[in-house]
Formats: sequence, structure tokens, C-alpha cells
Amino acid sequence: MNPAVDSRPLQLLNTVFGHPVFRGAQSAIVDHVAGGGDALVLMPTGGGKSLCYQLPALLREGTALVVSPLIALMQDQVAALKQLGVRATFLNSTLDGREVNAVERALRAGELDLLYVAPERLMMPRMLQCLADSKLALFAIDEAHCVSQWGHDFRPEYLQLSVLHERFPEVPRIALTATADPQTRTEIVRRLALDDARVFISSFDRPNIRYTIVDKQDARAQLLRFIREDHDGDAGIVYCLSRKKVDETAAWLVSHGVRAIPYHAGMDTASRTANQARFQREEGIVVVATIAFGMGIDKPDVRFVAHLDLPRSIEGYYQETGRAGRDGAPADAWMAYGLGDVVQQRRMIDQSEGSEEFRRVSVAKLDALLGLCETAGCRRVRLLDYFGEASVPCGNCDTCLEPPQIWDATDAARKALSCIYRTGQRFGAVHLTDVLRGRVTDRVTQWSHDQLNVFGIGADLDEAAWRNVFRQLAALGYVRPDHEAYGALRLTDASRRVLKGDERVEMRHVVARKGRAVRSRRGGIAGTEAAANSGLLERLKHWRMEQARVQSVPAYVIFHDRTLAEIAAVQPADITALAAVSGIGAKKLERYGSALLELVRG
Ligand code: ADP
Ligand code: ZN
Repeated sequence: MNPAVDSRPLQLLNTVFGHPVFRGAQSAIVDHVAGGGDALVLMPTGGGKSLCYQLPALLREGTALVVSPLIALMQDQVAALKQLGVRATFLNSTLDGREVNAVERALRAGELDLLYVAPERLMMPRMLQCLADSKLALFAIDEAHCVSQWGHDFRPEYLQLSVLHERFPEVPRIALTATADPQTRTEIVRRLALDDARVFISSFDRPNIRYTIVDKQDARAQLLRFIREDHDGDAGIVYCLSRKKVDETAAWLVSHGVRAIPYHAGMDTASRTANQARFQREEGIVVVATIAFGMGIDKPDVRFVAHLDLPRSIEGYYQETGRAGRDGAPADAWMAYGLGDVVQQRRMIDQSEGSEEFRRVSVAKLDALLGLCETAGCRRVRLLDYFGEASVPCGNCDTCLEPPQIWDATDAARKALSCIYRTGQRFGAVHLTDVLRGRVTDRVTQWSHDQLNVFGIGADLDEAAWRNVFRQLAALGYVRPDHEAYGALRLTDASRRVLKGDERVEMRHVVARKGRAVRSRRGGIAGTEAAANSGLLERLKHWRMEQARVQSVPAYVIFHDRTLAEIAAVQPADITALAAVSGIGAKKLERYGSALLELVRG
């Protein structure tokens, strides 16, 4: 092989994109596709999928067609490529007839490296004719899981993309997705006729995301503390289950000085679009949202994703938390979780319209997630194991950083279960706790529960401890909430074994938060170096905001947080030193180099 040809991908990576080395499978994928092969690329969010088709687009003759489902995404991608000096543009419904003609002319004339198109446009006869008249480098099908009818991102137009292969069999295709499960994989291969494609599966680990699941007490106050202590001024997403809770939480955060905005499907389209655009473009906005806020988000510098309610499954949790830290800088996935969440999710399943089979699967998925919430082991190990990936304890989740103590809760469990039994399986955890702790409330008197032999037998544990016991009993399947009876706790077959003394129960202790000695992250990203140079980082961010405003592009299109943080840490003295910073290619160096050096000099 000619070594001169061989080194071209790396050269382009350095000069155009400003990255020193390839990440993971990128190099192999680029070589394969540039060489004319088909590929299916499975990589987690933030893994660096775009480069896998952008580089081959530059290496191969002709124009690369990129099929992308969302207009906002393609506009931002094109803006970012133009900053790098790459000849990219898009075709979608926002263009008028004259603009469309101009793009088609450029395509035919071979003046484009990349052309982003919406799937419905690609299938129009006029477009197909135009493609037939042009030299094509490759087809890239982004968000390829949109072909899956079972996922929530299904796009019927994606099903027709197999036509590309029939019409242009000689043009290589690369399909990309961050959806991890094997069914979706198989479906992509079948529906896009990618049987001969080489499959590249990356690890689905997101090492820069720190997973934390806390015991829910006063969720909003806990959230506010988390934001203030760890993410003051950072961009983040807060997920809630209901529209009402979204509105209330956003308003409450605003009243406490957080720049929060709501997003849910009940809002009118205009305000929804406006809020999404603000989140994408402005810095430091916190979106409080239902899961309707999803695929359209391609913001690399989301520093945290918080859950105030439990997601439905580990898939959901992984996908939602995965929107944090796409840029690779430290990010948090934080969730507050309590007995109420277990009750609520069970109710939703029990009351759903689905078949018996659907409910059974839903319960199994919920149980897997509860297992993740209650585990005393590494969260990441548990998460990756669910996707069939083996790993070792990560050192970057709450259970690794502050291992929970395990206690023999058999005795407490038996007391709790007896209390449920003696009170007729008709009460929720609050009343049961009062009975166990021997508190004389109106309700206790009304039902004469102070006459029972279980009254006061649990005075040795405080209220928080009992709340934990009941939550874990529910999560571990020893009790089951009854929705006909307003969440009253009922016994299960498993609980009978405990009551009879045949089964031991182990539980996690409530870990009182020791504060944040482990990692100081005030002011957000990049830890201590940046903190030391926070004055410079602030100036750089301010400059970037101004640039973004003048050019009307999102701030991260100018530079990513990580690039600014590196500049602040390294403080490059000249152009050569600046060029070594990751994320600064030739074009950006030429355009912004002297301004950056000026800022560093102060
Ligand atoms: P994905 O589409 O897989 O979510 P992107 O293509 O948006 O990920 O890339 C995520 C981030 O990683 C971007 O900020 C991108 O600039 C950066 N990146 C990608 N490849 C590299 C690399 N080889 N070296 C450094 N940064 C990279
Ligand atoms: Zn861990």
C-alpha cells in the first residue's frame, strides 16, 4: 500500500478537524468506507460518529449524501462544517425554490463535499434524477434506528431508503446509530438491506458521565442543591413524568434563580420550538421536560441530566442520561428515586391498555431498572451488563465513590411485613411507619392500630430508615402496591418466605451525603485546571458568545467547551502551541488564532 495515501485520513483529521488522533474504531471505519465498503456503525452518543462519514466524504471523489431526520440538526452540522472550511450545505423545506436550484446546480457541478438531506426529500423523483446526474462519494444514514417501528423515533420515510441501494449499487453506504439493543440492530440491517455491511460495535460505556441515584426526600430541594453545588451556570436537562410537574418545576427553579424553561408536548408549537432553540443556542439554560424532549437535541455541552421521576426502563435511562456530556467533558446523570416512583410506575403498567405480554415485558424492564437503583455494586457495571457488555467497577459512580453499607434487614423486613399483614394490607408506607414507630395519629386512633401487637415495634429505626425499608421491599418484590386501593402495600409470595423465617433480606443503608470532597466542580467543566484559570475561561466564553451572536450560530459551533477549557489550562503563548489544542484545525486557527492569543495574554 502506498504510505502517502495511507496517511491522508490522519492528516485531514489534524488539519481540518484539529484532532490529534482517531478515537476508538473511527480509523477502521474511515478506512473501510473510504475504500468503498458498506458499514453499520453502533457507537454511543458522543462517540464521534459524524467523523466516520465526514472524513470519507473528503477522501472520496464526489459528494457525500447525508440523510438526517431533523432539520435543526442538519443546519447546525452544516454550520460547524463550514467553520472548518468544508464545502457542506443542506436541502430541506426551509429553502425556497431559488435556493434549491442553486444547491442542485452545485451538486451536479461537483462543488459540494457533503449534502445533508431530509429522507422525504431524497425520495422525490427530481432529487433522484439529480443524484443520477452527479458524482456521489457515499450515502450516510444518520440515526438509522429511525427505521425501527418499535422504537419511539420511527420515521416511515426511512423505510424507503433501501431504494438507494437499488438505484446506486456502486455507492458505499454507512448507517449510524447510538441505539444499543440487538433487535434494533437486526432491523436496521434488514430494512436497509445492509447484509453485506461490516458492523462496527463500540463499547456503550460513557466514561465521562458520573451516575448518581439518591434517596428521594424533598426532590425539588435536592435538585436545587445539586444544581447549585455542582452545576451552577451549566446547561442541563431535568426530566419529569407529567406536563404539570414540568411546568411547576421550571417555575420553581426560576423563582430560585435558575435559568430554567419548560418543554412538553402540551405546549403550543411556537413556544416549544423557541424553548428548544434557546437551549441549543444560549449557554447555561436548564430545560425541564417530559421525554417529548428527545432526539432533536444535539447539544454537546449538556453538563447534567437529572431525573425527578423514574424512567420506564434501563434503555430509557441510558438514552436520556446519554444526552449529557457528548463533548467528552465530565457530566452528571443524577436521579432522585423513592417508593412513590415504584408505586407510580407499577400503576402506569397496570392501567395501561397493552396486552398481557406487553405488561409482562414492562414489569421485567422496570424490575431491571429498580435493580440498578438498588444495587450496592457499581452502577456502570450493572448498566453495561444489561446491554451485554462486561466491565469492571468504574470509580465514577456514586456506589464506587461512596460504597453503600449493606445491613441484614431481615428483622426490619419481618416487622414491616407483619405490620402490613396486621393492618389488613390496606395502608401505604406513611401510615405503616407511624404504626411501627408507635406514633398516635388520628388515623392510628381511628383504626385502633395502637391496640395491635406491631404498634411501636419499630421505634429503633427513624422515619427515613423505614421509608428506605419500604422502598427496597417494593423494589425487591417483597411487597406490591395495590392501585385499586390508592397504593396500599400488599404482601407477595416472596414476602411469605421472609415472614416464615426462610429467607434473609439484605438492604443498602441510607448514605448520608458527605458533601463533595471527591471532585470539586464548581462552575462546571474540566475540573481543577480550569478552575485555576477561571478568569481566562470566562473571558474566552464571553468572546465565544459574541462570535456566536454575530454569526448567528450556536456557541459550540465556534468552539466546544473542552477546547476553551484546554486553552485556559495550557495558556498557549503562540500560534504553534495553539494549533496543538484539540478542536483547532487550520481554518479556525487562521480565523480565530490571533483573537485567542490576545485573550490568553489578557
Ligand atoms: P456522535 O454523533 O457520535 O454523538 P459526534 O460526532 O457529535 O458524536 O462527536 C462528539 C464529539 O467528539 C464532538 O465534539 C467531536 O468534535 C468530538 N470528536 C470526535 N472525534 C474526535 C477525535 N478523534 N478526537 C477528538 N474529538 C473528537
Ligand atoms: Zn462505578
